[in-house]
Amino acid sequence: MKEHCDRCGLQFEREPGYWVGAVIINTTLIFGTFLLTFGGLVIATWPDVNWGLVLGVTIAVNGIVPVVFYPLSKTVWMAMELSWHPLEPAEIDAAADRVKGA
Ligand SMILES: [Zn+2]
Repeated sequence: MKEHCDRCGLQFEREPGYWVGAVIINTTLIFGTFLLTFGGLVIATWPDVNWGLVLGVTIAVNGIVPVVFYPLSKTVWMAMELSWHPLEPAEIDAAADRVKGA
């Protein structure tokens, strides 16, 4: 991943541990996706639940969704974090310097 935006110069990782928020968003999403997948399959096939199908589909979903969604979870996290922690003047100046190539 790039350290800053090519267009506006914004540094993506604003402080150490910054991406923990993205990991929390991704984890929350996969818990929700798991519950929906598991519950949906059990309800749809009740009372003759095919547990092998439920196991295979939920393992596949839990393997694919977090990997595919991780870049977007970073974008969502940055948007959320910027909404309550706007850029400091020094960060704006540094971004402007990066755009100018200084
Ligand atoms: Zn930008």
